[in-house]
Amino acid sequence: MLEKTLSIIKPDGVSRNLVGSVITRVEAAGLKILAMKMIHMTQEQAKGFYKVHEGKPFYESVTGFMSSGACVVMVLQGEDGIQRYRTLMGATDHKKADPGTIRHDFATDIEKNVVHGSDSPANAEYEINYFFNALEMVNE
Ligand code: GDP
Repeated sequence: MLEKTLSIIKPDGVSRNLVGSVITRVEAAGLKILAMKMIHMTQEQAKGFYKVHEGKPFYESVTGFMSSGACVVMVLQGEDGIQRYRTLMGATDHKKADPGTIRHDFATDIEKNVVHGSDSPANAEYEINYFFNALEMVNE
């Protein structure tokens, strides 16, 4: 099934000049970019984005990190796009990620793990609508 997913290149990825490397892997995997922009969130905006994690021990820390610098947010589309992009990213903890995945190859920390990708159709819809309106997204 053709699916859309929300991808973020997190502040560690942007500050370490990994934007091009991540996008190269996305395109090489055959995922299409339907929307893309740079943003710098406030911590309140990051808390809204990560509201599924409210109450978890790392909630303050991860939302502080996500608002610490610029991010690149993208809407990606492809067959089985949500899972395919999750596979490209690798496990949350880079030490457990498979070789060749973005997190295995670039992440430095369980929190500073370079990229975000939606984990379900419902979360993808929430996350895409959190950052983009219809005028900012191509229809392919
Ligand atoms: P993801 O879907 O693979 O990004 O993982 P989760 O949804 O479980 O967590 C969201 C984000 O919170 C992760 O990508 C990390 O940046 C961060 N995170 C997850 N687990 C931990 C943790 O145990 N400690 C800290 N500091 N951050 C974490």
